[in-house]
Amino acid sequence: MPALSEVISALDGLWPRERAEQWDAVGTVCGDPGTEVTSVLFAVDPVQEIAGQAVELGAQLLVTHHPLYLRGTTTVAADTFKGRVVHTLIKHDIALYVAHTNADRAAPGVSDALAGALGLRVVGPLVPDPDDSQERRGLGRICELDRPVPLEEFVRLAAERLPATVQGVRAAGDPARPVRTVAVCGGSGDGLFDQVRAAGVDAYVTADLRHHPASEAREQSPLALVDAAHFATEWPWCEQAAAQLDAISDRHGWGLRTHVSRMVTDPWTAHAASSPDSARPALSAANSTTSGAPN
Ligand SMILES: [Zn+2]
Repeated sequence: MPALSEVISALDGLWPRERAEQWDAVGTVCGDPGTEVTSVLFAVDPVQEIAGQAVELGAQLLVTHHPLYLRGTTTVAADTFKGRVVHTLIKHDIALYVAHTNADRAAPGVSDALAGALGLRVVGPLVPDPDDSQERRGLGRICELDRPVPLEEFVRLAAERLPATVQGVRAAGDPARPVRTVAVCGGSGDGLFDQVRAAGVDAYVTADLRHHPASEAREQSPLALVDAAHFATEWPWCEQAAAQLDAISDRHGWGLRTHVSRMVTDPWTAHAASSPDSARPALSAANSTTSGAPN
């Protein structure tokens, strides 16, 4: 069985910490380097429910995409929610490791996993890393579909293939317009509209699209926007990351057991469609591009 320090250096090899954004906080949050690791849990969010799941599993390492502490802190007291997570983990000798913007930029990275979940063929990064001569790393991905499909069908497909959330998948654009090329960016992607427009793709799949950037993007080009829950666009990375660690474990004969959390930690828990003809349950109401009632 490997020591935590060996597993951590393998993970650092997949997602080098120096490739994270300056403002980010990645790497080991807590953990004793000498602890023997047999079981690892992957999840999007380092919240209490996920810490509890790591305890139940008997995992020694929890790997999350989102940081627990992004800004400095002066307390890990258990009466703060983040401190409670830290206490839960340390009491059960579980390490926490974060791979955030360094996993976004990696190849394969978060957007490769999103493209894979959507059944898209990746052509290259949307914003290539200047220091990657192979032009594989970077933010977002430009992708192709094997055959063009109307936007309406593409959105339905996205809703079927991504983890179910109460938001579902919403879209902006002509439902009948064919989609053949797609830019994807796991997580909040409305800072990349200029690059998406420059790429000349038919549609952009991301999360957290705000009114003004989305509205302006729609006014400036026929680009279709496909907006899924932030959690849903990043969860596929957990499966990809677990498979990457599995491969490393096999190579070293570590015999690690990896698990991917299936707990939906999207903070949004309710949804009501505003369309008057929508008498369907809220969980299935967001997968249509044609229920365009103003709201
Ligand atoms: Zn995120």
